[in-house]
Amino acid sequence: MAGLTHEHVRVAVIGAGFGGLGAAVRLRRAGITDFVVLERADAVGGAWRDNTYPGCACDVPSHLYSFSFAPNPDWPRNFSGQPHIRAYLERVADTFGLRPHLRFGAEVRSLRWDSGAVHWEVETARGSLTADVVVSATGPLADPRMPDIPGLDGFPGAVFHSARWDHTVDLRGKRVAMIGTGASAIQIVPAIEREVGQLTLFQRTPAWVLPRMDRRISGVERWLHTKVPATRALRRGVLWGIRELQVGAFTKRPGEMRFVERLAGAHMRRAVKDPALRAALTPDYRIGCKRILLSNDYYPALAQPHVDVVPAGLKEVRGTTLVGADGTEAEADVIIFGTGFHVTDVPIAHRVTGARGTTLAEEWKGGMEALRGTTPAGFPNFLTIIGPNTGLGNSSMILVIEAQLAYMADYLRQLDTLGGKVALDARPSAVRAYTDMVQERMRRTVWNTGGCDSWYLDNGRNTTLWPGTTTELRRETRRVDLAEYRVLRPHTGPVKATVSTAGAGRGSR
Ligand SMILES: Cc1cc2nc3c(=O)[nH]c(=O)nc-3n(C[C@H](O)[C@H](O)[C@H](O)COP(=O)(O)OP(=O)(O)OC[C@H]3O[C@@H](n4cnc5c(N)ncnc54)[C@H](O)[C@@H]3O)c2cc1C
Repeated sequence: MAGLTHEHVRVAVIGAGFGGLGAAVRLRRAGITDFVVLERADAVGGAWRDNTYPGCACDVPSHLYSFSFAPNPDWPRNFSGQPHIRAYLERVADTFGLRPHLRFGAEVRSLRWDSGAVHWEVETARGSLTADVVVSATGPLADPRMPDIPGLDGFPGAVFHSARWDHTVDLRGKRVAMIGTGASAIQIVPAIEREVGQLTLFQRTPAWVLPRMDRRISGVERWLHTKVPATRALRRGVLWGIRELQVGAFTKRPGEMRFVERLAGAHMRRAVKDPALRAALTPDYRIGCKRILLSNDYYPALAQPHVDVVPAGLKEVRGTTLVGADGTEAEADVIIFGTGFHVTDVPIAHRVTGARGTTLAEEWKGGMEALRGTTPAGFPNFLTIIGPNTGLGNSSMILVIEAQLAYMADYLRQLDTLGGKVALDARPSAVRAYTDMVQERMRRTVWNTGGCDSWYLDNGRNTTLWPGTTTELRRETRRVDLAEYRVLRPHTGPVKATVSTAGAGRGSR
């Protein structure tokens, strides 16, 4: 594999998942070909390359969970499986001529802003390069989180995370412990339940689960979607519209979620007859506070005689004995962690050093924030896709990615208009005003008021989700307002540190 020694590019994109590939398409459409996509792995696909666990599928319907500019009339199911989504992303790379731009095995190890030269110095596992602009699409759910469990090192069996499934481990007849009850765990449990000898689920917090309206998309529908593209657009439009209408209940009227709670309660009672198990599986927080999960076979799987639910997190491992926080003990041959990802402490933040010589992780000590979810102050020409407060509780993240890519395209246009060696640095006051607006809207949301602790929160503050519709997010990111930025030229020199007056304990901007 050739190195990347001393190349200079207009744009360096990091990551080849939906975000990075989408950025690459958008760049080419803007007539920009002087860019590379730096990917640490050896293939495109991001989350859909890395998550190969049994039962892995999207939980937003495929016709919405795909690019608007790359419709796929052939999605096989409402909720298509990982192999189909991964194949779709491979096709996107081919169809849009992205291959020449892809650099695999190029993990970005450090990014350093050079104020004198007005560009980024990028160190990768394949060598170094410089770039005028960096678009970071390293993914919010790309780096698995493994909890620190005393005694885990001494466990004699196989241990792996759901996002790094070990396919060499034969689960047939084994005593398997599943740790966690998030979106991955509830897909895994029913997918492996029949083959394992014994399954023990360690559940720190029960999830609210709704029926999954999944079905095969018929040949006739697919034919229609191919021959009459308007039917495909209509399908996507309806899926999108329904979710837009739901947003108000999440963000403004959490009380309405009570009705949905009843549906979820009935869904559970249909499959689970044992009152003790029902009690253990009933959440004590408002539905929607944590991600609502969709499954028709999770509860039936938990009701099987060889499946046990420990209503507590895993506290300790003693040889082959797993001990729950409530003292329950269970024997296991294999431990599977479905314990989520580094979401509010994204690893790339430790590797980016901005104009003031501090890392993004240092600046984000008090919580992530960026102008319009995209540009943090003090990090000129650095755009982050699925940045702070851009996540969705109920719809497709591809809508968010596309909204941010429109912002990226306008950002590059603005740089061109300004001309010469130039960079934009978000004004701390603009970042503050935007963050305050987001946090004000967040106050009433179910995520903040629903009585749960979730991965959306960072020390009680929601820095991950967007408290509005995707239409509103699109409006926020439609164009770059130059008044919100400082324009930097080579003679401008380093940005002076400013003392933040708002938000005690936050990184100064
Ligand atoms: C199992 C699973 C199911 C999901 N289902 C849905 C769903 O149904 N609907 C939905 O809206 N969202 C879903 N998501 C969320 C998902 O994260 C986003 O929808 C989307 O895939 C994010 O795309 P991305 O390109 O931003 O990140 P990713 O797909 O995570 O891609 C990030 C890429 O960056 C690379 N990378 C990271 N760090 C570096 C580095 N330092 N140097 C070089 N490369 C690097 C990674 O290797 C990876 O290829 C799901 C996530 C998971 C894990």
